[in-house]
Amino acid sequence: MSLAPTDKQLQEINGFRSFLSDQIRPKLSTWYKTGELPVEFFQTFGEGGWYGIRWKDGRLERTAALREALIAEELAKVSPGIAVAVLAHVNLGLTGLFLFGSDDLKKRYGPSASLGKTVMCVGNSENQAGSDVAGIAMTAEKVDGGWRLNGAKAWVTSGYAADLAVVTALSDPDASRNSRISMFLVDMNGDGVKRKKLNKMVWIPSDLTRITLENVFVPDDHLLGAQGKGLQQVLEIFTCSRIPISALTLGTAAGAFELALERARKRDIFGKKIIDFQAKAFEFADYYARMEASRLMLWKACAAVDAGRDFRQESSLAKYLTVQIAREITPWAADMFGAVSVMFEHPIHKYPMDAWGASLGEGTQDVQKLVIFRELLKRYSQSS
Ligand SMILES: Cc1cc2nc3c(=O)[nH]c(=O)nc-3n(C[C@H](O)[C@H](O)[C@H](O)COP(=O)(O)OP(=O)(O)OC[C@H]3O[C@@H](n4cnc5c(N)ncnc54)[C@H](O)[C@@H]3O)c2cc1C
Repeated sequence: MSLAPTDKQLQEINGFRSFLSDQIRPKLSTWYKTGELPVEFFQTFGEGGWYGIRWKDGRLERTAALREALIAEELAKVSPGIAVAVLAHVNLGLTGLFLFGSDDLKKRYGPSASLGKTVMCVGNSENQAGSDVAGIAMTAEKVDGGWRLNGAKAWVTSGYAADLAVVTALSDPDASRNSRISMFLVDMNGDGVKRKKLNKMVWIPSDLTRITLENVFVPDDHLLGAQGKGLQQVLEIFTCSRIPISALTLGTAAGAFELALERARKRDIFGKKIIDFQAKAFEFADYYARMEASRLMLWKACAAVDAGRDFRQESSLAKYLTVQIAREITPWAADMFGAVSVMFEHPIHKYPMDAWGASLGEGTQDVQKLVIFRELLKRYSQSS
């Protein structure tokens, strides 16, 4: 089994690096200063052809998981915050439409969403329901011609920028845990939708927003998938998005690592470069080895997706290992810069915080361990 990118994918990544240099790097300092990613960015990214879901021959289609992972890693090396805005749009929101939208909904929103002209997000987490995905309290009451949604989603990435939100709500609160939730496509510009941008410290310049729905009417045809299957559906979205978020996390580690290496090669201390202290050289070697190992796990997960195999365990292993390494490398890399590392203007300061953010999105490390253990039990019981 080859895990390596194809020549075509490597060529595309070179093209993406040019896109980064032309369209993103020159604007980064402004976006970090204002803490805002202009909504036009989503369209620029889409017109470049960089999203992992496209509209082609009248339907939505996914590009290869490895291609998407390579792009997410490159983007996150430069800005994990921008990479997460892309992820929330494509790997959460648009993936909800891709997996569970009717043909009509896909035709209506797919062309513009896959180009970033319509921005999407997912709102599941609430104050009492994060790891416990099923613990939500938002309600969906059946009314004539549709549903009336009430409640609040506490943490929604790109919720401020979004035009459409994939939202979970209790459609049958008295039913069992596995059949009381449904998934809806909500027009974020409709009546009763309120948004409050939160003052977060990770993944700048993406937005993190609290969304409150007050008697928001959602027409019947905006129910996504099957009524009562919202829990299984949102878990499926998270399982898929664990691969791109692992790539984003690896990019966070690699971006910090590369800056640290550059610094260690230039900075003179006690009459020699930092890199010439063997203690430091060994640290570089050790982190590089572990970063490469987590990359192989990520590529293995991509290979499973691209071959149409079950990837539940691989995606959690990739998330777990990339977060472990990113949470170790990023503060170590920042240390290499001494005092400068705490300056807001210096790019290195953001990586440790962004690695922290990565450990929360799409499930904490504890949640990944739960999935890894559940899946390994299945595999071992099949083989014994
Ligand atoms: C920057 C950011 C962006 C986000 N974007 C989105 C988004 O776009 N859409 C969305 O719906 N949500 C989003 N979230 C929410 C995110 O998914 C949750 O924060 C995450 O799932 C953790 O939930 P929680 O915050 O409620 O923590 P909790 O679930 O309360 O976890 C607290 C602690 O308990 C541990 N724990 C939980 N369950 C177990 C268990 N069974 N066994 C052992 N330990 C356990 C956790 O690992 C953690 O250490 C975002 C969060 C952040 C910080």
